[in-house]
Amino acid sequence: MFRSGAKRCLNCDTVITGPICEGCDLTQAAASLVLRRRLILRTGLFLLGSMAFVAATYRFPPLETDGMLVFCGVVFFVGLGLAVWVERGALRGNQIAIRKRLFMTLVPVPWLLAALLVVNAKLDTGPVQDYRTRVVGKFSMAAMVPTRRLVVRSWREGHEFERVPVSRDEYSRFAVGQSVVVEIHPGIGIPWVAGVVAPSSNASGGAGNGGNL
Ligand SMILES: [Zn+2]
Repeated sequence: MFRSGAKRCLNCDTVITGPICEGCDLTQAAASLVLRRRLILRTGLFLLGSMAFVAATYRFPPLETDGMLVFCGVVFFVGLGLAVWVERGALRGNQIAIRKRLFMTLVPVPWLLAALLVVNAKLDTGPVQDYRTRVVGKFSMAAMVPTRRLVVRSWREGHEFERVPVSRDEYSRFAVGQSVVVEIHPGIGIPWVAGVVAPSSNASGGAGNGGNL
């Protein structure tokens, strides 16, 4: 681990030689305040980004929504932990330059993931693909952000099941054992769910009516 005996400014990481930092002209009391304020702002941005990501998974639900949510959840808790670690370290007068950099690196990650989902959907020009399959399970969780999944037999090589994110309406419409058609947008690399319809309504109504979740 990086440890340097030299004391560094909490604000700009310049090595401190006197009462006032030569890098930013602040005393260490003032630098601590600036650091705190910036930390709160960045943490806010980080939380907003995480909400934007969750919103994006509702608007353009990737077929792998659960995997992406788990990944973003890990990033979220590591980020919050780092923010607390920076703040504690600053209070105790520890070296925090590296912690700060780690935290700053994580702040844009949820935003980038959210942007990735939006771009993936917006640049998507391929036709919607229909996959006929069967519901083998249902899962719903009424948390702060409600989660509804239809578990269906997978049509993809190497996958046994798909946990398809669905709307409340779709969730209540289909029962275990029923045949369904899952409509998938190809995206530009991340397939995402257009909707789930009954096989007969799909045959008469075409693929155009499944876009809203
Ligand atoms: Zn400084």
